[in-house]
Amino acid sequence: MDFSIPEETQQLLRAVRHFVEGAVIPRETQIEKEDRVPDSLLQQMREMGLFGIAIPGRYGGLGIGTLGYALISEEIGRAHGAVRTLVGISNGIGSKALVAFGTEAQRQKYLPRLASGELTCAFAMSEPGAGSDVGAITTRAVREGDEYVLNGMKHFITNAVHAGLVTVLAVTNRELGTRGGMSVLMVEPDMPGFRLGRAHETMGGRGYGRCEVIFEDCRVPAANLIGDEGRGFQVAMACLEEGRVAYAAACVGLAQRLLEMSADYAKQRIQFGRPIAEFQAIQFMLADMASLIYAARMATYHAAWKCEQKQECSQEASMAKLLASEAAGKVADSAVQIHGAMGYAKEYPVERLYREARVFRIAEGTSEIQRILIAKQVLK
Ligand SMILES: Cc1cc2nc3c(=O)[nH]c(=O)nc-3n(C[C@H](O)[C@H](O)[C@H](O)COP(=O)(O)OP(=O)(O)OC[C@H]3O[C@@H](n4cnc5c(N)ncnc54)[C@H](O)[C@@H]3O)c2cc1C
Repeated sequence: MDFSIPEETQQLLRAVRHFVEGAVIPRETQIEKEDRVPDSLLQQMREMGLFGIAIPGRYGGLGIGTLGYALISEEIGRAHGAVRTLVGISNGIGSKALVAFGTEAQRQKYLPRLASGELTCAFAMSEPGAGSDVGAITTRAVREGDEYVLNGMKHFITNAVHAGLVTVLAVTNRELGTRGGMSVLMVEPDMPGFRLGRAHETMGGRGYGRCEVIFEDCRVPAANLIGDEGRGFQVAMACLEEGRVAYAAACVGLAQRLLEMSADYAKQRIQFGRPIAEFQAIQFMLADMASLIYAARMATYHAAWKCEQKQECSQEASMAKLLASEAAGKVADSAVQIHGAMGYAKEYPVERLYREARVFRIAEGTSEIQRILIAKQVLK
């Protein structure tokens, strides 16, 4: 194992840390209020190349490897979730299908604009009747000449409101299902028959631009099919698998921020004539939080390193996502406890971060689904 990273990645890491602490965190209240990432922040993100960190250099990205990208995701994980998800989708599930399975023409058409941040993207798989059970999707794509005609509805699609490109998983042959009956299409919102639906009110996730996506006889050029027709389930699963390491890293980043906030608060909050940090009960909570983060971080780095070495890493990626998302939940809970009533009050960010951390165990494959995937490997 070798977790060392090139000097230029370290420089970017320092720049990202500076950006998160100096520009994003001071604007979190604004993001919450306006329910969007301010244009000035988006511009800074473009200038830093954050939309293309993991996109190969020949398509205008920074082409940073899995480990370096995980470290950067950890830093971005400290930031408001709206910034974290934008970076995560652009470098992960929103572009991975193109990078790994797209034709050269498709890559040339979209990747440079995604990498520069001119275009943002979304990944549309979940439907009201199909969340964990991806095989149950009903959105259909029927080939008619040089086009596919899409009908159906996706929900909880992050960044759908702003996306200029949506990766859509649809059924092309009902009988074959996940074994040859699903396909991935790249859909642009100005294609006829595409529209946005309602946005669910959620406990967190302000600024994610998340809503339903509806296809009504939506005409998509056949040239926008990614990979072979019928291979869509495998394409979608590959995108999710790759994304798990970065997602785990983001969980670690958020948990680390909560730990630091809790330690600071414990040192300055006086009760019974001394800082609560002097009480062993508080120290033990901090120690458990730090230990959980350490274990999640090491699992994440190791999974990232294995993926970067092109070794089989699906089990490690699932383990990292499981451990880090569960750790973030526990750390967030302890952070609220250490802050007492102030952890429950909206004027402190801990309350919001606690709600933010809850989604980590649900999105991009629930904890139960990760356990199923891990158990399959164990029992193989
Ligand atoms: C904030 C947010 C953003 C999202 N963004 C996107 C997005 O951009 N694109 C997208 O396509 N989707 C997105 N989703 C949807 C997300 O991927 C799904 O919520 C997730 O896959 C779980 O599906 P579900 O919510 O339908 O839960 P269900 O699948 O209905 O699961 C409900 C419960 O049952 C458990 N369960 C299900 N099957 C099993 C089983 N076989 N064994 C044991 N337990 C099981 C689950 O683990 C869970 O605890 C987002 C969701 C959220 C909350």
